[in-house]
Amino acid sequence: MKARLLCLVASALFLLGGTAAYLPADPVDTLHANQVTRNPYRAVHWETTERITWQTHDHEDGQSPTDFVGPNDTAGYEAFTWAHYSGGYAAAGGACVGWCSSRRWPAESNGVDDAPLISSLTNIDYYVPGAEEIGLLESGSVITHLFSPFLTTYIEGEGCSTCDEGEPVGQNPDGIPANQIYDSTQAAVDMIATFGGIPVLNHPTGSFGTYSSLTGMGGIEIYNNLFSLNDDCSGTAIATMQANWDEFLENVSPSIWGYSANDHFGPSTDPFVQSCGTRPELTAANLDRGKMEVLTTARTLAAHRIAIDRGAFFPIVDGQTSKGGGPSITNIAVSPSSIIITTSADDETVTWIGNGATIGTGMTLTLGVATDAVGYVRANVVDAEGRIVYVQPFTLGVKQSSFIP
Ligand SMILES: [Zn+2]
Repeated sequence: MKARLLCLVASALFLLGGTAAYLPADPVDTLHANQVTRNPYRAVHWETTERITWQTHDHEDGQSPTDFVGPNDTAGYEAFTWAHYSGGYAAAGGACVGWCSSRRWPAESNGVDDAPLISSLTNIDYYVPGAEEIGLLESGSVITHLFSPFLTTYIEGEGCSTCDEGEPVGQNPDGIPANQIYDSTQAAVDMIATFGGIPVLNHPTGSFGTYSSLTGMGGIEIYNNLFSLNDDCSGTAIATMQANWDEFLENVSPSIWGYSANDHFGPSTDPFVQSCGTRPELTAANLDRGKMEVLTTARTLAAHRIAIDRGAFFPIVDGQTSKGGGPSITNIAVSPSSIIITTSADDETVTWIGNGATIGTGMTLTLGVATDAVGYVRANVVDAEGRIVYVQPFTLGVKQSSFIP
């Protein structure tokens, strides 16, 4: 797009000069070809990076610390968000009942320091604060769930005035300061950021128009194991979530990072059951497939935050026949003319996507004709078992000098 604009300007200047001469309609050359202007993996030192397996979004659902955290530790998570619904009222039916305010932070005062559990952990190195903010209560309002990693302040949706599920009229009777109560999804997004969190859109299965006016989003779920298994009944939730990601990248910001999570269907024995007539039986194989690999400089919460802000992480869909052995990306090299992905196995299928369409295949994407009209590119790396690593989007733009790989 920008390349064409430059060409049009050049044409106009030429014509103003009054000399008639042939001009190619839309030349593409190295000056006009798009280059990477933002590479989320630019700061990664591939030989030494820590690779942290992180679960962002599962639900404790009344399970004991041992029953909830224990299986996630055994499953190999090294960073874990002790998550549940927060900031609203839920009628009976599996979630928290009544006012949900179970923000498990600080860990020491909210059950995480269960001594026998802590001493038994073998993989989890640290917890990442966060909850699933469940939004507004008002009947008929759009209920959008948001994940709030790094938020340690409790926030809450305003109460209903016309309550139809048995919830109390008005605000949480516990009383919450006014600056911690939101009255719209956008206000919730802004409030998460104001208090130091990252707003992430959870399972966006509506039409893009449902979310298109939201600004300031830091991430979006593109895989959710609960919705994936429900898709086996009937549905296209995962495809819709990923189409919405591309819409956000094209129309809102090319730096909204993809997230992958288990939701209720992780390694613990979650009592949550959602009706879904022909869904396959839940097994160790089809549970625990939505996870993240974070590329950090150290095994600390601070280093984790820096990596997430940069986009230096991969949302992953793990396998059913085995866990944890999926595509391992060992390098991503960006130059003015290409992006090259290297994997340890070197035999995966790589698909490059720009503005929602496939624009290339294979480990190398050549920047030029195919990428000239798109504002971002991202890649899906899939192995023979169907395990997927999603590569976060690279921003493209015309950048002819001071190239930074
Ligand atoms: Zn949710």
